[in-house]
Amino acid sequence: MINHSLVVLNSISGRKEPFKPINPNRVGMYVCGPTVYSNVHLGNCRTFITFDLIYRYLTHLGYKVRYVRNITDAGHLENDEDSGEDRIAKKARIEKIEPMEVVQRYTVDFHEILKKFNTLSPSIEPTATGHIIEQIELIKNIIKEGLAYEVNGSVYFNVLKYNETYDYGKLSGRKIDELIHNTRSLEGQSDKKNPQDFALWKKAGPQHIMRWPSPWSDGFPGWHLECTAMSTKYLGEFFDIHGGGMDLKFPHHECEIAQAQAINKKNPVKYWLHANMLTLNGKKMSKSTGNNILPLDIFTGKNDKFSKPYSPQVIRFFMLQAHYSSILDISEEALDASEKGYRKLIEALDNLSRCKPGVEIGEFNTNKWLKNCYKAMDDDFNSPLLIAQLFEAVKFINLVINKHQPIENSQLKVLNDMLPVFIYDVLGIDVVKKSSSRTEEKLNQTINLLIELREKARNNKEFETSDKIRDQLEKYGIYLNDGKGITKFTFD
Ligand code: AMP
Ligand code: ZN
Repeated sequence: MINHSLVVLNSISGRKEPFKPINPNRVGMYVCGPTVYSNVHLGNCRTFITFDLIYRYLTHLGYKVRYVRNITDAGHLENDEDSGEDRIAKKARIEKIEPMEVVQRYTVDFHEILKKFNTLSPSIEPTATGHIIEQIELIKNIIKEGLAYEVNGSVYFNVLKYNETYDYGKLSGRKIDELIHNTRSLEGQSDKKNPQDFALWKKAGPQHIMRWPSPWSDGFPGWHLECTAMSTKYLGEFFDIHGGGMDLKFPHHECEIAQAQAINKKNPVKYWLHANMLTLNGKKMSKSTGNNILPLDIFTGKNDKFSKPYSPQVIRFFMLQAHYSSILDISEEALDASEKGYRKLIEALDNLSRCKPGVEIGEFNTNKWLKNCYKAMDDDFNSPLLIAQLFEAVKFINLVINKHQPIENSQLKVLNDMLPVFIYDVLGIDVVKKSSSRTEEKLNQTINLLIELREKARNNKEFETSDKIRDQLEKYGIYLNDGKGITKFTFD
C-alpha cells in the first residue's frame, strides 16, 4: 500500500514535494499542541482535525507513524514577543487556583472536545513542564555554541549572530531587517541586545508562581524551546513532519528551526505542514479578540452566532470539505450545506447495505473511482476532492436503489469494501458512535424523568407508584441507588 505517489505542500519551499520519509515505512510527526489556559475554540480544533486527517491517511497507507503532540503547560507568554505574563500563571492568579489546576482543567476539556470530533490520540503527548531538564540542557548547548547570552538571569537567543551563519526567516520569508519591530520597552524586553532576539529562559519575578531552578536563575523556559526539546527527544534531530496552524510559522516555528540548527547544525524538519485559519465573519478565530466560538456552544446551540445546534460530526465534515491549506469561513449557510451533504453520505451507506447485485454491470467504473479517491488524498491530503468522489459513488448507489441502474457483484464489493474505509477510517467520520451516544443521552434523560416522578410519588406517599417505577426499572436491568438527596442509576 505504501507505494503511493503522495505529494505534500512543504511550507518551507512553498512547493508540493514527493513524500519520502527519512526511514522507509516510518513517519515521525510533531504537531504543536494547545496552550492549556482556556477552552479550545473551534479554530484550534480545525488545526487538530487537519493533523488527525493526515495521521489517519498516513496510517491507512501502511506507515508506522509516531505522532507527537505536546501540551503547552508553561512558558507561553501573553504576547508572542516574550512580553507579558505567562498565560497559565495569569489564569491561576485571576482564578486563585494552582497553575496545575488550570492545566488539568483545560487539558481535560481539550481531550473531551477532540474525542467528540473523533480525533485519534497521538502516540506521545508530552508536556513542557515534564521536560524542563531537557530544555535547560538545550540552553546550555546554545550558549556553548556562542548563540545565546545571559542578562540578569534571563537567557536570549542571539538572532543576528545566528543569521551570520544560518538563514533566520527562511520558513516565514521574513527578512531580518524587517524584524526590528516592537521596540516598546516591555517587561524584560530591555535586557535583549537586539529586538529580534527571543527568550530561551526568563527569570521569574517575585510574583511569578511557576518557576524552576536553573544555572541562570529561578525561572521558566521560553515558549519556543519546549517544542525543540520534545520533538528532538522523541523523533530525533531530523524528523519527517512538523505541523501546526499557519499563525505559528512566525515566530514560533522560525525560532524552533534556529534553536535546533544552532545545536545540531542541521535542519531539523523535512516537511513543514501548516493548517490554514478558520475564520468567523471573515476574521481569524482567536481567543484574544473574542471572535471565536466554543465547540460545546455550537453542539448545544447555546450561542448568539447560529440559530441551531450542529453535531461534532457535521462540523468535522464541514472542515474536511475545505482543503486544509485554504482559509475556511464558518457560517450558518455553510454548516447547513454540510449537514445536508453529511446526511446524504450516511444515507448512502445505509442504501448500499440494501443494494442487491445482479448480472448486469451498472454505469459506474469502480476501479477508476477508487483510483480517483486515492489520487485526491495523494495530492496533499485533498479531502474536498475525496468527498467529491464519494458523492459520485452516492449518486450511483441512489440510482441503484431506485432501480435506474443495475449493480454487479464486483462493483458492489469495491463499494462495500472501500466506501466505509474512506468515510470512517480516512475522513474519521464517526456515524455509529454518534447515533449510539445520542440514544444513550435520550435514555439517560428518560430515566432521570422517571426518577423525578418516583420522587414526587414518594413525597406524596404514593408508594405503590414509586415502588412500581423502581421494580420495573430493575426488571430492565436499571438499578436506582438512593443517595443523600440524589438518586443515581447504574445498568447491568
Ligand atoms: P494555541 O493554544 O493558541 O497555542 O493554539 C493551538 C493551535 O491552534 C495552534 O496550532 C494554532 O495555530 C491553532 N489555531 C489558533 N487559531 C486558529 C484558527 N483560527 N484556525 C485554525 N487554527 C488555529
Ligand atoms: Zn510548538
